[in-house]
Amino acid sequence: MSLRLSATTPETPTEATDGTWLECIECAESYAPFEDVRYTCDECNGLLEVRYDEPPTFDEFEGEGVWRYDAALPLESGVTTQEGATPLYEVPRLEESVGVEALRIKHEGMNPTGSFKDRGMTVGVAVARKLGVDRLACASTGNTSAALAAYGSRADMETLVLLPAGKVAAGKVAQASLHGARILEVDGNFDACLDVVQELAERGEAYLLNSLNPFRLEGQKTIGLEILEGFQADYGVWPDRIVLPVGNAGNTAALYKAFRELVQADELEPEDVPKLTGVQAEGAAPMVEAIENDADEVRRWEEVETRATAIRIGNPVNAPKALPGIRETGGTAVSVTDGEITEAQRDLATEGVGVEPASAASVAGLRKLRTEGVVGDDERVACLTTGHLLKDPDAAAAAGNDPEPVPADTKGVLEHLEN
Ligand SMILES: *Cc1c(COP(=O)(O)O)cnc(C)c1O
Ligand SMILES: [Zn+2]
Repeated sequence: MSLRLSATTPETPTEATDGTWLECIECAESYAPFEDVRYTCDECNGLLEVRYDEPPTFDEFEGEGVWRYDAALPLESGVTTQEGATPLYEVPRLEESVGVEALRIKHEGMNPTGSFKDRGMTVGVAVARKLGVDRLACASTGNTSAALAAYGSRADMETLVLLPAGKVAAGKVAQASLHGARILEVDGNFDACLDVVQELAERGEAYLLNSLNPFRLEGQKTIGLEILEGFQADYGVWPDRIVLPVGNAGNTAALYKAFRELVQADELEPEDVPKLTGVQAEGAAPMVEAIENDADEVRRWEEVETRATAIRIGNPVNAPKALPGIRETGGTAVSVTDGEITEAQRDLATEGVGVEPASAASVAGLRKLRTEGVVGDDERVACLTTGHLLKDPDAAAAAGNDPEPVPADTKGVLEHLEN
């Protein structure tokens, strides 16, 4: 296990506020967290990370949901609609057909707006309020915009969302719309939307709430904390592996950070850290390419395509945080076809778990890695399903049964059923 995972508690910089500060992951420059708006390092443009002089311990956690973990967060409370505390479903038939010791589904689609993005927004929008900004913005493949619109309106702030025209699932646009965001439909893909919104943010036009924002990732760490506590409660052990879909790699970075902080606090042994295993769609797999080529940097894919629109991303901005997470935990990354994604979506549905296509990528990836022997039959695995079935009703209808027209009388219905 490498240096970063076993690193000791960092030294508190002099300008730290209440033991919390922002630190550049490249050059270690530090900044006070709530004085100026800043997304990347002034010195080297590297990604920033929230740091604490006291890493969290399990005995500090109390209550339910994201704010149970306030000891691991930069604020004590947020703009909340009771996000987190999502189910960790048993799926016995799927567990058996995949062939692992234990398989659990952490269904993040059960958050208030139907995706894990709520966990980031409850923290991120609260930080925005503390910073005193008045306009929020994000680029989005859909779910970030739904969450930002909801949390922004709850905080009574103006919200702009930039969406790739024609490439966002219907449920997500409907949410952003009803929660009152201004929806800017961009003639380009998600990566182009993010380029534009980053420039708007740099010009001070809006506060950026994409996962480039280090505070959002703090909220998303709580997915990892809930999974760890869930496995301890149900099996008395840590999970061997966590499999998750990868778009901008924010969650991968966030889970890795949660585990690193627990290692710093002596709550988790470095060798017990779950293997972070990322799954992408074949048509949008720059992280998989980097892992397979053992590359230090991810090559931006200009052309991306997949039915799993939530992960239709060619330039994962959190790659510098996520690649070491995958490598240092002994995990890997794998790509799956759209057909395999739909198959996994159906498999989950037969267990009563309804997810959108991107979410099913985790299960499709696990199945593939198990078939290849990369995942052992003795492993206890958590698959993250990131968004709810209703987010993408068109994909669900296409993957499922077709309605059957029948006459409006019992005899006719019975006749139809006999055929
Ligand atoms: C945002 C999102 C992802 C991608 O998550 P990253 O943290 O950007 O890798 C995956 N699935 C769904 C449903 C999402 O909304
Ligand atoms: Zn720097």
